[in-house]
Amino acid sequence: MREPDHRYDVLIAGARVAGASTALLLARAGLRVLVVDPLPRGRDTLSTHALMRGGVLQLHRWGLLDRVRAAGTPAITETAFDYGDERITIPIKPRDGVESLFAPRRTVIDPILVDAAIEAGAHVVHGVSVVDLVRDRSGRVRGACIAGGDLPAQNVGADIVIGADGVRSKVARLTGASVEHEGAHATASIYGYWRELDDQRYRWYFRPGVGIGVIPTNGGDACVFVSVRPERFQAARREGLERAYLATVREIDPALVDAMARGGQAGPLRGFAGITGFTRRSYGPGWALVGDAGYFKDPLTAHGMTDAMRDAELLARAVLEDEADALAGYQQVRDGASRGLMEVTDRIASLDWSMDEVKELHVTLAREMSRGIEALEEVRGRAAVA
Ligand SMILES: Cc1cc2nc3c(=O)[nH]c(=O)nc-3n(C[C@H](O)[C@H](O)[C@H](O)COP(=O)(O)OP(=O)(O)OC[C@H]3O[C@@H](n4cnc5c(N)ncnc54)[C@H](O)[C@@H]3O)c2cc1C
Repeated sequence: MREPDHRYDVLIAGARVAGASTALLLARAGLRVLVVDPLPRGRDTLSTHALMRGGVLQLHRWGLLDRVRAAGTPAITETAFDYGDERITIPIKPRDGVESLFAPRRTVIDPILVDAAIEAGAHVVHGVSVVDLVRDRSGRVRGACIAGGDLPAQNVGADIVIGADGVRSKVARLTGASVEHEGAHATASIYGYWRELDDQRYRWYFRPGVGIGVIPTNGGDACVFVSVRPERFQAARREGLERAYLATVREIDPALVDAMARGGQAGPLRGFAGITGFTRRSYGPGWALVGDAGYFKDPLTAHGMTDAMRDAELLARAVLEDEADALAGYQQVRDGASRGLMEVTDRIASLDWSMDEVKELHVTLAREMSRGIEALEEVRGRAAVA
């Protein structure tokens, strides 16, 4: 491992969707970028991985979609909504060079982004964390103290330190970044991988109190997740997660459980207890937050990675603008593009709606997803980053 130097233009904590994408863009623009992450390259994380149009569009634009395809990630050509008495199938319309959606495993997409950042010239060091910030007398952040593995703790100077270090962001804690907006609801989820479900659709099922999703992914597997209220998840934990998971899927689509049993399970089930959505203040003198560190919403609408990539580009543009109020502008655009999506996600995450209501909420969700894409397009029209 090449040891980090003592000075960079940008130091990023976190080498996944948000951090690696930001590093890629800033390194391509010629900045000296250091990224550190305590975890090894390509380690899986607690997350399913359905990408929506905005995320796929960015991978295409960054020249990385071919790598996603080459990793054997199946193309998703339709989305099917199952509301019990009504099933709606929506084909993915070819637009802006994107003909289908993709749901690469995190063991696939995160290293693709990290490798692209390295190829662009970023220095990425795994096994190392940001443990503290370095400030000047005025309190402005001037770098960070990093440590981990064989590397003795050392201060690294940077013009800006970016926290792309997830919901429990250390950089947010060290900067005292306040929560500015909080949702009211959270879902808990249980998910696992199943072989040979033989479907090229995202399938979303909704019933009062439950959401289920089927996400085709690498290796011919499909991720099947069940979202419930946190109280039900805790009860399921006591009674046995697997039994509760399979019983819930059977209740809603017995044929799906039969297909899962035929193909067999690929790996253990994973559980997520739920976290309520929030936005944090995401900039200050010499620092910024991107991805889940600054803006998290319930995973039931599967939009966290897509938004993280959008916000990586918004932040990279703001850093390159080098104007006094550019970082404030970054947060303003991000919040404007996300507020409606956050609200509708929070409402869906209540799992407390009638079937007519949830259908309406999905119409709103589709509109808000398009708004996120348009917000980035508008900023792209104003400035220049690869
Ligand atoms: C159960 C579940 C299902 C989900 N399903 C989907 C889905 O289908 N589609 C979707 O788009 N989104 C989904 N999401 C959301 C998605 O996982 C997140 O939005 C996404 O991971 C955000 O990426 P990130 O890079 O901001 O953070 P993360 O992926 O959390 O990465 C943060 C990185 O920072 C590192 N780090 C932590 N502390 C430090 C430190 N001190 N110094 C340096 N590095 C540090 C961590 O090791 C980690 O690698 C889901 C989330 C959950 C919980």
